[in-house]
Amino acid sequence: MELCTMKELLQDAYRNGYAVPAFNVCNLENIQGILEAAEECRAPVIIQAHWLEAYYSSPETVVSIVKAEGERRRVRAAIHLDHGAAYEDTVKCVRGGFTSVMYDGSQLPLEENIANLRKVCEMARAVGVTVEGEIGTIGQNSEIGDVLERVYMTDPMEAKRLADETQIDCLAVAIGNAHGFYTSAPQLDFKRLSAITELVKIPIVLHGGTGIPCDQLQKAIGMGVSKVNFSSVLRKAFIKNMYSYMEHNPDEISLMDIMNSGKEAMKEIVRDCIDMCMCRDRY
Ligand SMILES: [Zn+2]
Repeated sequence: MELCTMKELLQDAYRNGYAVPAFNVCNLENIQGILEAAEECRAPVIIQAHWLEAYYSSPETVVSIVKAEGERRRVRAAIHLDHGAAYEDTVKCVRGGFTSVMYDGSQLPLEENIANLRKVCEMARAVGVTVEGEIGTIGQNSEIGDVLERVYMTDPMEAKRLADETQIDCLAVAIGNAHGFYTSAPQLDFKRLSAITELVKIPIVLHGGTGIPCDQLQKAIGMGVSKVNFSSVLRKAFIKNMYSYMEHNPDEISLMDIMNSGKEAMKEIVRDCIDMCMCRDRY
């Protein structure tokens, strides 16, 4: 496995008009499934853990599993902290061996978001770790379903200021995307995206990849989106197939077989996401 920074992956994607999919993980089978599908598709991938997922075990555990599982595979991957809530989270993950961190200060006033991101960038830069920032609210709810206090779309001028005044490597924006499942078909605000990419010359990140129609996703990628996050769609496939397997095999006590049934369904989705991001055969 070639473990690299997210910046390296995104720079290639940004230059060549595709996106690198980022998949959320919390256990061994998630990591195995993503690495297996990535190897099959010859696609670079980002393995990411929300701060809650990182602490479900520990940042060190996540990194150890990725390294051990990746060792025997031909894959290129970065390990990224998704929605770090505090400076301390980013430090813990950098110490644990993550090659990239996100600090999410999008609920704070702009000045505070910038000040905190500068601190994260200073720490991460010193050890060659990538930093993702966020401005704008990605839907009405946070990644974990909490209702957000402050809901706003990304303002292109504010995005420029944030990118200019920090050393972030990529920027997550709110252009009509949302976490979780969409209740009606999303319509990305391409006018806003275009105004952002006119001013911000670093890779753009789209959270809430689950449920964005392929044509919209690929149009956004063509405009400078270089990372797309997928989480809910993977978990749903994993859990749904595991339930169905247990329903058909009520006496099954092989935990390996039960978990594998979830993993195989998740892998199908990972392959689809890789194709939607036009990331197949990029490694
Ligand atoms: Zn997110």
